[in-house]
Amino acid sequence: MSAYAGVLERYKPFLKIPAHTRTVTLLEGNTPLIPVPQLAEELGGGFELYIKFEGMNPTGSFKDRGMTVAISEAYGGGAKSVICASTGNTAASAAAYAARAGMRSIVIIPAGKVATGKLAGAVAYGAEVIQIDGSFDDALNLVVAISEKYPIALVNSLNPYRLEGQKTAAFEIVDSLGESPDWLALPVGNAGNISAYWMGFTELHARENMALPQILGVQAAGAAPLVLGHPVEHPETVATAIRIGKPARGEQALTAAEESHGRIIAVSDDEILAMQKRLAANGIWVEPASAAGVAGLAHELREGKINLKGKKVAAVCTGHGMKDPDIITREMKKPTILPAEMNALEDFLAREGK
Ligand SMILES: *Cc1c(COP(=O)(O)O)cnc(C)c1O
Repeated sequence: MSAYAGVLERYKPFLKIPAHTRTVTLLEGNTPLIPVPQLAEELGGGFELYIKFEGMNPTGSFKDRGMTVAISEAYGGGAKSVICASTGNTAASAAAYAARAGMRSIVIIPAGKVATGKLAGAVAYGAEVIQIDGSFDDALNLVVAISEKYPIALVNSLNPYRLEGQKTAAFEIVDSLGESPDWLALPVGNAGNISAYWMGFTELHARENMALPQILGVQAAGAAPLVLGHPVEHPETVATAIRIGKPARGEQALTAAEESHGRIIAVSDDEILAMQKRLAANGIWVEPASAAGVAGLAHELREGKINLKGKKVAAVCTGHGMKDPDIITREMKKPTILPAEMNALEDFLAREGK
């Protein structure tokens, strides 16, 4: 295998993609599965916990895995333009891969609700960014309608090739561990990712008789349609990447949870932000939504609803903390200002060290 292979080349025999597909890649995937024994201990101990850090993808989120395949298919099929609705990360990813292929990218985002780093990414990669006075769900309705009427490829996770790419993360986790984890925890927004992981694990099961993990999908309490059992008209959460009230792949997500003998739960914004801090204390800075999976594990452990003794647990951290710096800088205490003198620094260190 060439060192210059992304997920499409690396896993091609296992991807259901048309022959016209022409690879457009940024060498995404191959992200680290980081052991966090300290955090496992803090959560009660007795189990192995690993973080699949998807923030290490080229545009800072797992969206790149699916985007390389969706854009490669669209490009090979002759499309000149792509469009998506986005809470931010899909926009940045679509823009980067479209730029790579010389295609036009149009992204529609909910006004005022997209993290700075994501919007900046989409602009930097050359997307035409349109804000609408509405929610992600409104944006998705619009792009679906447009892509049905015009020759513009839709690259949201309704596009089946997105899931083909995203399922490779399940393959990588099994490659790293040498077996399936007992539990997989991850955030759930539009529910493409949970569906893709379940596809990946069930395919490994069929192909290699690999055991199936139990899946814990985690929504934010203010945007938890799959927990409530009905759409949420005005979803609200600090975890903007999962601020979605009507998940496009909601049914599939519920099936994944049920078939895996797992479940979908909700956690509060406070739990999410607390877990974001704890992950950072382990050297892993993720955006708020990305902490939801681990926050869900902590929630279930605290309530005595899950027994992880002797188990291997993988939690997916979907995007990098640098995408959403505002959430940190808003609350951070201002850095100390000192004169550029040795004495001042010595005084400061002595004061703070006490
Ligand atoms: C897109 C995204 C999610 C949600 O994934 P879905 O496939 O929509 O469920 C979670 N976290 C981050 C960082 C994302 O970008």
